[in-house]
Amino acid sequence: MRCLIASDIHSNVEALEAVLADARLRGFDHALCLGDIVGYGADPGVTVGIVRESFDVSVRGNHDAAALNEAERFRFNEYARAAIEWTRDELSGEELKFLEKLPLTDQIDGVHLVHASPEDPPGWHYVTDTLEASYQFEAFEEQICLIGHTHVPLVVSLEGGTIRTESGPKVRLRPSVRYLINVGSVGQPRDGDPDAAYGLLDLDAGVLELRRVPYNAKRARRRILRAGLPEFLGERLLDGV
Ligand code: ZN
Repeated sequence: MRCLIASDIHSNVEALEAVLADARLRGFDHALCLGDIVGYGADPGVTVGIVRESFDVSVRGNHDAAALNEAERFRFNEYARAAIEWTRDELSGEELKFLEKLPLTDQIDGVHLVHASPEDPPGWHYVTDTLEASYQFEAFEEQICLIGHTHVPLVVSLEGGTIRTESGPKVRLRPSVRYLINVGSVGQPRDGDPDAAYGLLDLDAGVLELRRVPYNAKRARRRILRAGLPEFLGERLLDGV
């Protein structure tokens, strides 16, 4: 089984379409979404529509939760807050209902899915390194856990008692080893590379591929400015920060 892994799309329809086109060329059986479908970007409704249609499994991100519930905006900075208030008004009742139905965690074929951390899904903690990752492995039973939230790719393996980071773009997965995988962000990468990030996970071959896809970030930026959203949210797309 080959899975397309997409996280933190953030209403960036240009980036999402580029990722889907790239993944379709390579082929996949299931599309998995790790949440933060909306927030920051200018096309929340269209993005929710594409996720509903093209993805098999999706979990809820903190921005999806914040579109539904003001109390979830407690850690948001001014840009995120302005964008999510705008997003809420843009989404139809049906689109909001779709976000409301998303579970915090899910699993498919021995793969665990959660937006931020399996240890405390509603706490939205950032897993940024091997130390943070080391606390997570006891919180899921499956061999592989997929996460998002930081917008920075990270692959951590646990073999026996040894924990370490694995480097891409291709990672060979060994059967006796457990993995915590973040493929980065489709719609707002923050690792210094502005290209959309996503993953292809081949469970039969035991291979994870971390892919980067160029897309029209200038257009996504223009749409953000035209929507009256904070200029910074458009600018950062050009630099991937
Ligand atoms: Zn996010």
